[in-house]
Amino acid sequence: MRVIDNHTRLYGVIGHPLIHTMSPTIHNAAFEATGINAVYLAFDTLLLEKALDGLAAIGCLGLSVTIPYKEELIDYLKFIDPMAKEIGAVNTLVNKSGSWIGYNTDATGALRAIEELCEVAGRHCTILGAGGAARAIGFALKEKGCHISIVNRSRPRGEKLAQELDAEYLPLDKLAMINTDIVLQTTPVGMYPKVNDVPFDPGKVRAEIVMDIIYNPFETGFLKQCREQGATTIPGARMFLYQAAEQFKLWTGMEAPMEVMEKALLQLLRNDHLTR
Ligand code: NAP
Repeated sequence: MRVIDNHTRLYGVIGHPLIHTMSPTIHNAAFEATGINAVYLAFDTLLLEKALDGLAAIGCLGLSVTIPYKEELIDYLKFIDPMAKEIGAVNTLVNKSGSWIGYNTDATGALRAIEELCEVAGRHCTILGAGGAARAIGFALKEKGCHISIVNRSRPRGEKLAQELDAEYLPLDKLAMINTDIVLQTTPVGMYPKVNDVPFDPGKVRAEIVMDIIYNPFETGFLKQCREQGATTIPGARMFLYQAAEQFKLWTGMEAPMEVMEKALLQLLRNDHLTR
């Protein structure tokens, strides 16, 4: 058991609702493993501005930001990293002398998860979905020089993102015709507890590598079918771990203990299915 004393530093996640958040478990495991005297808590709030001011005032050093505040939060920030500004969403805050600086580690986390397997520069990537996570990943891939196609249920949203990314938009019925290297499934369909739902027909996906960014369950039905068809698959847990590792580095200046964080996450995912 760690000792909490007058030197203990404070970190946390801000959002609403936060009943499903797995961030406290993995960040506390990381602090414990590295011997950093810090604690990471869940701050479930409907009062975003007051919570940000209050937490900055009491010396909270860093925050993760989750649904529904990733975009709205930008209005309250004086300082924002250029990539997060371009994406239009922030998932990480660092307290610098009482002011919050915003970053987006969803983008870098997704990229690191893919680049464990292959270089992405010059490759063709198809993003399924056009929401907040698709945007973050799309900008990271664009910066790396990927050719991008967006496939989305609603055409206006898909076309808008495609235009911003200098990418092409394709409707769902063209999915089977796309000749692509990497597919990224970014919709929430298939997430626990609706684990049998599938957003797109995996039979129409022809790609060497497929990533589903959902991390609960560990392997979605979509990802399982793609794996059985011969694709190399990346579970969303890799992206989740890397985005958290990037946060840890921004907050502490240290490399994150990935193995410890992964162990804590996998244990939580196993227990989660048993307890809900
Ligand atoms: P979002 O902004 O609400 O976007 C949702 C997207 O999914 C939209 O493009 C929407 O299409 C599409 N969609 C929703 N229901 C659909 C359905 N039944 N069939 C087809 N398309 C559907 O959500 P988000 O913030 O991007 O988050 C998406 C997922 O990513 C969540 O499950 C979240 O937990 C996960 N995530 C994971 C990580 C990680 O670290 N692994 C990080 C961030 C987010 P329309 O435009 O047609 O509505």
